[in-house]
Amino acid sequence: MKTPNSELDLGVCMPLDFELTDEQQILRKMVRTFAEKEIAPIAQELDDKEEFSYMLTERMGELGLFGLFVSEEYGGGNLGYIFYIIAVEEIARIDGSQAATLAAGNSLGISPIYHYGNEAQKKEWLPDLCKGKALSSFGLTEPNAGSDAGATSTTATLEGDQWVINGSKIFISNSSTDISKVCVVQAVTGKREGGRSELSCILVPNGTPGFTAETMHGKMVWRASNTGELSFTDCKVPKENLLGQRGDGFHQMLATLDGGRLSIAAMGLGGAQGAFELALKYAKQREQFGRPIATFQVNAFKLADMATEIEMARLLLYKASWLYEQHRPFSKEASMAKMFCSEMYHRVANQAVQLHGGYGLMKENAVERHYRNQKLLDIGEGTSEVQRIVIARLIGVPGKGL
Ligand SMILES: Cc1cc2nc3c(=O)[nH]c(=O)nc-3n(C[C@H](O)[C@H](O)[C@H](O)COP(=O)(O)OP(=O)(O)OC[C@H]3O[C@@H](n4cnc5c(N)ncnc54)[C@H](O)[C@@H]3O)c2cc1C
Repeated sequence: MKTPNSELDLGVCMPLDFELTDEQQILRKMVRTFAEKEIAPIAQELDDKEEFSYMLTERMGELGLFGLFVSEEYGGGNLGYIFYIIAVEEIARIDGSQAATLAAGNSLGISPIYHYGNEAQKKEWLPDLCKGKALSSFGLTEPNAGSDAGATSTTATLEGDQWVINGSKIFISNSSTDISKVCVVQAVTGKREGGRSELSCILVPNGTPGFTAETMHGKMVWRASNTGELSFTDCKVPKENLLGQRGDGFHQMLATLDGGRLSIAAMGLGGAQGAFELALKYAKQREQFGRPIATFQVNAFKLADMATEIEMARLLLYKASWLYEQHRPFSKEASMAKMFCSEMYHRVANQAVQLHGGYGLMKENAVERHYRNQKLLDIGEGTSEVQRIVIARLIGVPGKGL
């Protein structure tokens, strides 16, 4: 087709399509039903007791939610990344802890092995990880290397046919449960020209002598998810446990975090949706001064703003996820989605508690869990400040200070 007065050949005009596919809608419904029927009734008790749920992890595995984007030959669902984003969003709508187990299991656990592992590594680890019978973790953060992830000080020295690993990691999700089977550890394996560290990722099975994983307790957020502190003392693994090429660790880490940011964004979106729904329902029921509090304009406008922000976040996240599925550059959009969805969840959860008044501060009310859980999203997988640094660089802001 030619436009009037133009040489532009537009071909067949396709409308911009915002509709999920039938299969994606079926998955959303299935995960929503599971989350409402099986997670919601026990989420608060697990949170109170700081208890990781093996049963719910297994159920998520049975439903195929681990490895949705992994090809069938390794036990995955062979579906696109958007299916996975939908699953995380729906679980987070009900409970951040279970969403954390799922998101870390997929984006940080399965993803690096799937994308950078060789055939033997993929065959060894992925089938059980995709069933939810095993968990793998991503050991990047250290006591002195958080936002500055390149400052890793854990070392891996090649001695004969073995890597000898020394150092420690902190805040590592899914790393110290009874079904945690392997950790992808980023370590310094040498020096580059100019003195910069050569970083590589190495698969270290849980239970290897010299490797300990202790559960960290007392979290304000995601209390029913597992977070471990890892220590490596002359821990030896075969040289074949290297993931991908020696020296590719920093690139693998950045790419893994890019994908992971989409799932953190999905947790923000889903969590905000959950908090909003609770607030809307409550504000329509709760009467003060002889009328539902939702009918006071100030509260109706709050709800309108919350709904609008959630819609904006959804568009941003789904666009970024679509770019990822199309194998197009998506780092900037992933950081924007992660930052916006996290900060939006922060605002929505705050207003949701406000609309509940004193009852919103009580633990029996799920909105109280949303209020706590949202905070992690501003910090994990790159803080909001770090996302702004990434975005500023990608839009061309100059300056070494960034
Ligand atoms: C529950 C939980 C689960 C986690 N799971 C994992 C996991 O599975 N794997 C893993 O490797 N890590 C994990 N983490 C670690 C997480 O990614 C880090 O906490 C995060 O990257 C921030 O690092 P930090 O805590 O050391 O904070 P710091 O880096 O010390 O930051 C402190 C503050 O300084 C700011 N800041 C730092 N540098 C700059 C700068 N250049 N400019 C402006 N501001 C700056 C930060 O934005 C922040 O506000 C997890 C953390 C938690 C709490």
